[in-house]
Amino acid sequence: MTDPETALRRAIIDQCRAMNANGLNQGTSGNISVRLQGRMLITPSATPYDAMTPEMIAAMPLEGAYGAWEGPLKPSTEWRFHLDILKSRPEVNAIVHTHATYCTALAIARKEIPAAHYMIAAFGGATIRCSDYATYGTAALSETALRALDGRMGCLLANHGMIALGESLDKAMWRAVELETLAKQYYLTLAIGGPVLLSDAQIAETAAGFSSYGLQEAQTEDSSASVKPPSVKPPSAKPPSAKPKKRAAKRT
Ligand code: 13P
Ligand code: ZN
Repeated sequence: MTDPETALRRAIIDQCRAMNANGLNQGTSGNISVRLQGRMLITPSATPYDAMTPEMIAAMPLEGAYGAWEGPLKPSTEWRFHLDILKSRPEVNAIVHTHATYCTALAIARKEIPAAHYMIAAFGGATIRCSDYATYGTAALSETALRALDGRMGCLLANHGMIALGESLDKAMWRAVELETLAKQYYLTLAIGGPVLLSDAQIAETAAGFSSYGLQEAQTEDSSASVKPPSVKPPSAKPPSAKPKKRAAKRT
């Protein structure tokens, strides 16, 4: 494992811990992936973030055997939508999926988020769509998620949660925080008579400004590696195996 890769794996774990600490996610729900040189690094399934170490992050090839993976632990059950998004959206380098409370409440009510606040323009349009329902971890969920994300950098997943996309890991997490904030604002507004919506022209004007506004990042050669050095000490928990193993492509 190269040092930049270890730093990226640590950054994924840092963001997982941050999303639970700031209320964007709970327990072992949610998952994060990042594109790195033809592969996808993705959190392992059902693993407490406090006990997660860089070696436990699974690696999956973007081309070749669909579903093949490397690592000591199974990748997230949601590897399909992570992989399918990275394959079909070249501008996306990182994906954050959480069960954020307000996003999930709206997704349970099957409500998309309209243009109630101008920050929705950071997601590429005047709405945050809500996907159809499909069982977690399935190809059907990946299909409906990709449809809801068409031309967008975020969506709600019916009766499940949300997905936020980014050009880098930091940007994906920035959007995840913004998406939950939009959901909360819209939810609260529904209790006081409903929002006055912005027009498509107003959203377009805001979007134009966003070409030069947003989370600032130092320029690097590889945008997917534009993550800060880890700010927390590596946890003491040992990985189950020092050497990642290669796994067959077929798994459920
Ligand atoms: P994993 O623990 O397998 O990543 O699943 C969590 C989740 O959010 C499923 O949708
Ligand atoms: Zn989920």
